[in-house]
Amino acid sequence: MEARRLFRLDNEVLAFRFTATVSDRAGAAPLERLTGPDRLALWLHAAGLDVPGVSPAELRAALVLREALYRAGLAVAAARRPDPGDAAVLNAAAAAGRPEPALGEDGLALWRLGAEHPVADALAVLAADAVRVLGGSERDRVKACEGPGCAGLFLDTSRGANRRWCSMNTCGNRVKKARLADR
Ligand SMILES: [Zn+2]
Repeated sequence: MEARRLFRLDNEVLAFRFTATVSDRAGAAPLERLTGPDRLALWLHAAGLDVPGVSPAELRAALVLREALYRAGLAVAAARRPDPGDAAVLNAAAAAGRPEPALGEDGLALWRLGAEHPVADALAVLAADAVRVLGGSERDRVKACEGPGCAGLFLDTSRGANRRWCSMNTCGNRVKKARLADR
């Protein structure tokens, strides 16, 4: 199946795109999209992090990382410090892999994953991205989407820092349509 149809891939921040593999987090029925190891392999492929396969244990580790990342992101969005336990999960995942940054033939940045533990290397890329965004100078621009039921994380890079939705195409549109219907 095509990754584009299964996942929302429009978040510019890789770590937040990963947390978006659960949709409608604040809704009545959050939807888990990483329902099996193959799904994680597919998502990683779409993120430019190709792995030959994912084991059930690796999927479990990925989900633990993802939820720690999401909670830490929510804390930062609320101008709070992440829970030390969640920070520890991020730090451990960042330290557990050895991905290598490289310039590809097309001149764009990519990550080279090792042959031995490619999934751990891929998770380290995601954890390092989270550390960069949640702990860097842009952390006051981390927000949780105000779209109904969404609560997805995003980085507000708009000039006025007044963006309210994770994506104009989904949540922004939903809110607009609801407003029109109200009139
Ligand atoms: Zn949203």
